[in-house]
Parts: sequence; C-alpha cells; structure tokens
Amino acid sequence: MATERTLSLIKPDATARNLVGAICAKLEGAGLRIVAQKRVRMTLAQAQAFYAVHAQRPFYPELTEFMASGPVVAMVLEGAGAIAKNREVMGATDPAEAAPGTIRAEHAASIGENCVHGSDGPETAAQEIPFFFAQTDIVG
Ligand code: UDP
Ligand code: MG
Repeated sequence: MATERTLSLIKPDATARNLVGAICAKLEGAGLRIVAQKRVRMTLAQAQAFYAVHAQRPFYPELTEFMASGPVVAMVLEGAGAIAKNREVMGATDPAEAAPGTIRAEHAASIGENCVHGSDGPETAAQEIPFFFAQTDIVG
C-alpha cells in the first residue's frame, strides 16, 4: 500500500473536553504517524473556506460556527493507506452509526459535534494539508 498523507482536525468539542491525547493515541495506535501538528483557533471566514464544499448544505452555518467556536488541533498524518486508515479510526459521521472502538463511537456527542475531521480522498488531502501547513512544517 502506498504511503499517503492526510489532514486530521480535532474539533472544538473534543479540545474542550481534553480529548486531544486520547484521540492522538488512537491515531498513533492505528499506525498513523503525526508528522505535523498545531493548535489553532479558526476564524469564521477560515471555517467557511475550509468547508466550502458543503456551502449549499443546510448544516453549513451551524458547522462553520461550531468550527470557529474554540480551538482545533490540526495534524498531518502519514502512513500506508493513511487516508482510508484515518477514516476507519474516526468512524462514521453519525456517532450512532460509528463502529465500536472508533473515535466517534467512543467520544462524539452528535452528528455535528463529532470530534474529528479527516480528508476523504487524495485530492481532498492535497487541498486540505496546505490550508494549515507549509511544506517546511511537515517533518516525518
Ligand atoms: N455534519 C452535520 N450534519 C450532517 C452532516 C454533517 O452537522 O447531517 C457536519 C459534521 O460535523 C461532519 C461535517 O459536517 O463531520 C462534514 O460532513 P461530511 O459529510 O464531510 O462528514 P465527515 O467527512 O466529517 O465524516
Ligand atoms: Mg467530509
């Protein structure tokens, strides 16, 4: 399997509940390497730009306000098949449908406040990583 990089965000509901360590432990435990990491408070404009793909969806205003409501931890994860692996560890978007043992099954409160974001494919990862990180920030 090819080595990939993907963007992960620990969302404001999880940073508020001191879940950064627990979530990073799950990601690392699955064999993903954190090759860049920073804690940032997104502005509403940044959250709107990051989630522009969802601009026409009914949940967009709520989602973008939530993402700007507190700090997030942005990470680049690296590993064999990292994009799908991260999605697997995250679990389904709706925590009620997330497989046991996944981050969202264990920690998420709702479909909106669901602890983590992960790139959903190679093109998305290639767009989302530079949104937060310069090449020189990524240190394998
Ligand atoms: N979301 C929501 N309501 C929905 C679907 C999504 O509030 O019905 C939020 C949720 O925070 C989700 C984000 O919008 O993580 C992006 O949605 P997407 O379908 O891309 O889910 P993900 O890729 O995060 O699993
Ligand atoms: Mg998505």
